[in-house]
Amino acid sequence: MRTNAQEFATAQAIMPGGVNSPVRAFGSVGGVPPFLVDAHGAHVTDVEGKRYVDLVMSWGPALLGHSHPAVIEAVHRAVDHGLSFGASTPAESRLAGLIAGRMGGVERVRLVSTGTEATMTAVRLARGYTGRDLIVKFAGCYHGHVDALLAAAGSGLATLALPGSAGVPAAVTAETLVLPFNDRTAVDAAFEQYGQRIAAVITESAPCNMGVVLPEEGFNAYLRAKTTEAGSLLIVDEVLTGFRASDAGYWGLTGRTEGWVPDLFTFGKVIGGGMPAAALAGPAQIMDFLAPLGPVYQAGTLSGNPVATAAGIAQLEHATSDMYANIDARSLQLQDELSAALNAAGVDHSLQVAGNLFSVAFGTSERGVHNYADAQAQEGWRYTPFFHSMLEQGVYLPPSVFEAWFLSDAHDDAAMDQIVTALPAAARAAATA
Ligand code: PMP
Repeated sequence: MRTNAQEFATAQAIMPGGVNSPVRAFGSVGGVPPFLVDAHGAHVTDVEGKRYVDLVMSWGPALLGHSHPAVIEAVHRAVDHGLSFGASTPAESRLAGLIAGRMGGVERVRLVSTGTEATMTAVRLARGYTGRDLIVKFAGCYHGHVDALLAAAGSGLATLALPGSAGVPAAVTAETLVLPFNDRTAVDAAFEQYGQRIAAVITESAPCNMGVVLPEEGFNAYLRAKTTEAGSLLIVDEVLTGFRASDAGYWGLTGRTEGWVPDLFTFGKVIGGGMPAAALAGPAQIMDFLAPLGPVYQAGTLSGNPVATAAGIAQLEHATSDMYANIDARSLQLQDELSAALNAAGVDHSLQVAGNLFSVAFGTSERGVHNYADAQAQEGWRYTPFFHSMLEQGVYLPPSVFEAWFLSDAHDDAAMDQIVTALPAAARAAATA
């Protein structure tokens, strides 16, 4: 039997950092990442045969749990008819229809393969549609590795404490204004100075890539009003929250009740059911600016891939209101248990919660975490021993304090018990860090 350490050494000899996506390298928590060979329900198994309760869930896609029978069956059925056609299929309209049916203001959907492609295209479309160049983003929000959006981005850049990426021309990020999240004064100032040049504001519906940060009440609605007034577009990135925070993403918990819609949504993760599928979506008036109808070019050999589309349809069809209620309840239970364990160990913290998504921030109980500066100021080092204690006890957490914890419909009582049982020792480890 090969060990995780052996697999990691082999991987490092052939791939940069031994990984194909940076946070998988355990850069901030250190140690050897488990090399996984199986994922079923709420569990993953590594090459050494160790089984973990998973709270990463492929970083969000596995909403129903890993390898849900309905999704696997849909994939098998699709595979039997071919892997890729490079031509249109009936299933694409079906998936697009499921997205449009749940989200407000969506008349057209373009399917792509990754969240990065979705946000990249949304930004290009916003620029093409408005004839303007400037993009406003918020520090700590991550929208994929799009050149223009790799300024003060969260996720792996937060984990590695990078301000941006080498290889992105200054001229590109010069067209991106980075503002503190939840800061209406900064938004006002940006619009006052550059209003007529701003193509779009892009924001995570609820930021989950600097840890979870709750948009203050009315903040997203405020962005909607501000962009409308200036003739700019509002892009709401629901790649992570989409069809997870509710049947209509985090927007379903805010915009739907407040009565506003963005100009463009971006989706990924859940809509692919674990296969590569993502999308941008919005009203026909804007979306029809995309080729072949309009002048904004975008294309993809594997876009709308039949196997990915089948997985996405199956997952969305099984994402019932009971399923969301179950994940919401599990999330509340875990938040309570986590806080209780940390309090018992005397570890100052705040739970960062947006719907059923949450993360923990250490040493922040007094001020809370309202933006990226707050997130970075926390006692992040406490997460390392906490994480390793949980891993040792068979619970696979995100390997960075700047990531959300993901539950699924497959997290049953037994899985929850295993997590809860592991928490006190992990909390004590965090206390002594
Ligand atoms: N937007 C958000 C909000 C995300 O969380 C992510 C990925 N975590 C992306 C975009 C990029 O998606 P992908 O990794 O599929 O390119």
